[in-house]
Amino acid sequence: MVRHDILQLLAAHPQEYVSGERISQQLNVTRAAIWKQIKALKAEGFEIEGQTKNGYRLLKMSHSLNEWALEQALTTTLLGRTLYLEDELASTNVRAKELAHLGGVHGLTVLAKYQSGGQGRLQRQWESPQGGLWMSVVLRPDLSLADASKLTLAASVAIVDALEELFQVRIGIKWPNDLVYKGQKLAGILGEVLGEWNAVQTLILGMGVNANFTRECLSAPLNATTLYEILGYEVDLNLLAATILKYLEKELIFLEKRAFERLRLSWTERAVGLGEEVRILRGEQVFQGTFKGISIDGALLLETEAGEKIFSAGEVQLRSKMSGYF
Ligand code: ADP
Repeated sequence: MVRHDILQLLAAHPQEYVSGERISQQLNVTRAAIWKQIKALKAEGFEIEGQTKNGYRLLKMSHSLNEWALEQALTTTLLGRTLYLEDELASTNVRAKELAHLGGVHGLTVLAKYQSGGQGRLQRQWESPQGGLWMSVVLRPDLSLADASKLTLAASVAIVDALEELFQVRIGIKWPNDLVYKGQKLAGILGEVLGEWNAVQTLILGMGVNANFTRECLSAPLNATTLYEILGYEVDLNLLAATILKYLEKELIFLEKRAFERLRLSWTERAVGLGEEVRILRGEQVFQGTFKGISIDGALLLETEAGEKIFSAGEVQLRSKMSGYF
């Protein structure tokens, strides 16, 4: 793609001018075509200075999603190495499912700058305005169906680790897969097993992080926050995506070695409500007790008056007393 070639050339000479003539010769494109692509790059958020005499100079990379910039930021071996980035999708999970059906490889990653029909668990809606990180990864790991919920736990830990490394913010995990900051939801995860989990095991791991937009972009009743609200500046979404994929790949390698205890501990360290009195809602049923931790399979352990009960994710919701059981 000419646009990415131009970007590559400018990025190879940071803060220096690259003449239009040189770009034109090297990439075999007209001066008019270069100008058009530079304009498009500026619209994507790249700061490029153009001078008739000296040429073009890249001053700042874009913070919004860009395939080339994301590829540059990747440090993974497999995750994100096949990338699809769209301006708009109904849902990255739905697109990732389609691509997986068409033979999409392990690690294939789909991103959208905006989702018109983002999904949460149990067919709930996930609001996905511009500026967020809406990403789904196709995973075909060497794991069994019973391990599927561990992958969503791994995704929670990966996002928390990435946010800590990049922005030094400490995020809590609300079982099973909500990431919260001071009680408000910052990110969510949706793991979906694809078809029959037998010979080829496929899981679509959707991750949504409220990043570069204000709280006002989400509907009022939501108990939510965004990275912009927390940090006060816009983050580099390419670096964020790449860092999450780095940690996810790391967790995946441990899981494939059947080293789950490690993940269980890192998850537990970040858990919200542990040791506290909570309520578990399963349809109309309500269970009350102390949140003891998670089992080796990622199920929630609840100490009730009638003894210990185990709840697997997917069917139940957790409410803590701290937030008025809501
Ligand atoms: P739960 O947190 O109840 O397990 P899900 O993980 O399925 O729910 O996420 C869907 C729910 O999250 C929605 O019903 C809505 O309340 C809330 N929500 C939707 N979009 C966002 C968003 N961008 N940020 C925070 N919360 C959201």
